[in-house]
Amino acid sequence: MNKEIKKMKKGKYMKRLFSGIQPSGTIHIGNYFGAISNWIKLLDKYDCIFCIVDYHAITIPYDKELMQKRIFDAAVDNISAGLDPEKCKIFVQSHVSEHTELAWILSCFTRMGELSRMTQYKQKSEQHKAHANCGLFTYPILMTADIAIYKGEVVPVGEDQIQHVELAREIIRNFNTAFDDILPEPSEILSPTPRIMGLDADNKMSKSLNNHISLTETDEDLWKKLAPAKTDTNRQRLKDPGDPAKCNLFSYHKLVSSDAELKQVIEGCTTASMGCFDCKKILCKNFSELMGPIRDKKEKLMKEKDYVLNVLNESASKCRKIAKETISEIKGAMGL
Ligand code: SF4
Repeated sequence: MNKEIKKMKKGKYMKRLFSGIQPSGTIHIGNYFGAISNWIKLLDKYDCIFCIVDYHAITIPYDKELMQKRIFDAAVDNISAGLDPEKCKIFVQSHVSEHTELAWILSCFTRMGELSRMTQYKQKSEQHKAHANCGLFTYPILMTADIAIYKGEVVPVGEDQIQHVELAREIIRNFNTAFDDILPEPSEILSPTPRIMGLDADNKMSKSLNNHISLTETDEDLWKKLAPAKTDTNRQRLKDPGDPAKCNLFSYHKLVSSDAELKQVIEGCTTASMGCFDCKKILCKNFSELMGPIRDKKEKLMKEKDYVLNVLNESASKCRKIAKETISEIKGAMGL
């Protein structure tokens, strides 16, 4: 049963939204349009909690010397991209120990078969064969605890994450059946943006595949990436007409170009009256207009380390208070 538990935010009742942020280095436009730009639209609608998930990050091999930098960069990048700390909480997972405490409790309500069916586990354990550890296997339980510790009701996800929210509901239902319907079953808010492909046009955009466009790319670097990028293969010569539907760069145009520019590109491409060079120049200009203010904000925040750390600490303190209340209610109901 999904209890309607609403929270106060600036005098209004709002459902609580939870989302995790991987501390995996610089964010790219796939992250921005697949997640962050949607989160920004939800800031005024929900009581939003964003968690930099360092405990999840250690389930695969990582460099401990870089961890703090990556956490800091994740905070700076996301705030620069539009996660306004005045409108949401943004903190580090390991700073609120109740996440892992609840994960243990919920692991007692999770069936092994449910975990072994998870597509992400199959993919990641294959990818990191030598390090396929228990943490990677039980990752969805910690993810469920991340949501449940705040009685989160909505989780914004891409299509590849729906399976995790379904499992979270299942685990929470198992718990609620045994103990008093304490935890709301979360529902997903599906990101309206389809998968964003990388510059290679063959794989989803990913930093590890080096097919990405960073959100804070300089204009010069942006052009260096767009200029050689794959287009419709039918456009061998300037006079060959193309089909924007077969061009990966047109999918980028749809993210940042105006309706008039899209029309201009479709007409120019299909009649061969516009070359790929000019088409890429329009795309580069539009990306640059999006990225300029984000880049400036990032530059400013990188010089204001105390401010950023303060945002993380204050948010963690508010989250800890909520988490302690939930864990105490759970333990009470369980006779612990
Ligand atoms: S003109 Fe634009 S949309 Fe058409 S193939 Fe070239 S880059 Fe792609």
